[in-house]
Amino acid sequence: MLPLLVQPSCRKIRNEMLLCWAALWKSLKIYNFKCPACGYESRHPIGTPDMDQILTDVNNEFAQYKLFMCTKELKLMHADIMDAHFDNKCPSDKSDLEPIDDLEHVKCPRCSKELKVEDIKPLAAADGSTE
Ligand SMILES: [Zn+2]
Ligand SMILES: [Zn+2]
Repeated sequence: MLPLLVQPSCRKIRNEMLLCWAALWKSLKIYNFKCPACGYESRHPIGTPDMDQILTDVNNEFAQYKLFMCTKELKLMHADIMDAHFDNKCPSDKSDLEPIDDLEHVKCPRCSKELKVEDIKPLAAADGSTE
């Protein structure tokens, strides 16, 4: 599987660095938002979808998902801010979307209570090998 010149220890460090880098900087995470008050629940991918793609080819089909709130429909949604067609408007009702930067403190679009946030890291599952 591995090229012989790559020593296992190097590979491990490299893997860890990549994982840290990806976790801290740009990677796709699935966030699950749930309101303890009204039961509103929503799940969104936030970040950049394909880590390998970024590492190997930065210019190719770059996408970055960000969380928004539609104040008209009272729901959370995500949009690809790198998409040339995206203009900060809700695709279904054309109202201005409210960007959400602080993913740890997201208010419920329906009742304004703070949502419970859980992030599901697809990265950990993707790598499979536990060293
Ligand atoms: Zn709520
Ligand atoms: Zn909308």
